[in-house]
Amino acid sequence: MIKLNENYLKLKSSYLFSDISRKVAAFQKENPETDIIRLGIGDVTRALPQACIDAFHRAVDELSAESSFRGYGPEKGYEFLRKCIAENDFQTRNADISADEIFVSDGAKCDTGNFQELFAADINIAVPDPVYPVYVDTNVMSGRTSTFENGRYGGIHYLDCTENNGFVPSVPDKKVDLIYLCFPNNPTGAIATREQLSEWVEYARKEKALILYDAAYVAFIRDPSIPQSIYEIEGAKDVAVEFRSFSKTAGFTGTRCAYTVVPETCMIYDSEGNKHSLHDLWNRRQSTKFNGVSYPVQRAAEAAYSEEGQEQVRELTDYYLENAALILDKMTQLGYCCTGGTNSPYIWINSKSDSWKFFDLLLNKAGVVCTPGVGFGKCGEGYIRISSFNMKEKVQQALERISTAL
Ligand code: PLP
Repeated sequence: MIKLNENYLKLKSSYLFSDISRKVAAFQKENPETDIIRLGIGDVTRALPQACIDAFHRAVDELSAESSFRGYGPEKGYEFLRKCIAENDFQTRNADISADEIFVSDGAKCDTGNFQELFAADINIAVPDPVYPVYVDTNVMSGRTSTFENGRYGGIHYLDCTENNGFVPSVPDKKVDLIYLCFPNNPTGAIATREQLSEWVEYARKEKALILYDAAYVAFIRDPSIPQSIYEIEGAKDVAVEFRSFSKTAGFTGTRCAYTVVPETCMIYDSEGNKHSLHDLWNRRQSTKFNGVSYPVQRAAEAAYSEEGQEQVRELTDYYLENAALILDKMTQLGYCCTGGTNSPYIWINSKSDSWKFFDLLLNKAGVVCTPGVGFGKCGEGYIRISSFNMKEKVQQALERISTAL
């Protein structure tokens, strides 16, 4: 008899975005004439930068001739891209990361989800609340939690992110082994200062813990005093893995390209306390289970670092940041307390009511889809997330409708 991994039965039965889709579909059925504006799921709407498109085409042409054809690529990613990443994203910011420490992948979702495979079943995990659901769900699947009760899984140390701490959690007063952090944050749009990140690095060093640092939205940081990488913090190279993505940076949500940095100095310990290289273990895992990203996609990603690529990426992220500023202004004017929206594409809004009630109000009265905060965790109750990923005209129209509805 084929037996189930019963940890899957612990997962909350319905996923946030399927609940939203169901409600939106029901509303559309009853109101077929309403042009629903989606500011919910964080998917980009603008086309790929021209520099990436051109490189993509050139690479496809290379594959059409036997002299330049390429088959299986290196699982870790082509060196041309890893070098470009190390130089542009880290070395220019005095973060001492080399091309060898970069693993190119098809998504920060897969990498943040898969990375926990390297850890023992009985480690203590700290996860912010609210949070990008992948970190929690993948640990549930692996059996590191007990059941879901009162909005939380047993066995996880939740780090409450509230208005009191500006949605940036402080280090816990107990010992944890693995810490998930994400800045600029999804869903709250909060950013962490150098001092706040230093506190986490110091904690991890003291406890021999590991930080999994998700910087998928780093391209939206405009404030020069905010660290873009955790490796800008002294000592982080020994205790942190960083995840990045071209999804929101350069519109690659459909094209798929991301990367993970696993420094060679990062260690993990066996049950006898012996050190092992985390880099080598992740390399082992990826070369067994991952086939790499296609050659044309890696060339397209490389082109995002060219001079014109950088300008186009900047224009793209500026566009969404302008949308974010419009949303932040309007919701603040309407009397709502907001976080994010600067240095972040997300605006986290205190809805002064139940998250789903406010979601229903915006959908039914304005035909606008947002994301109910409670879907990201218990501390998200009473909040909604509005995403700036849409065309400017749609955002403006949505805000006019929201003004009228409220
Ligand atoms: N990390 C965070 C915090 C995200 O919000 C998302 C996507 O919404 C991802 C990772 C996924 O990135 P990718 O498209 O590279 O899988």
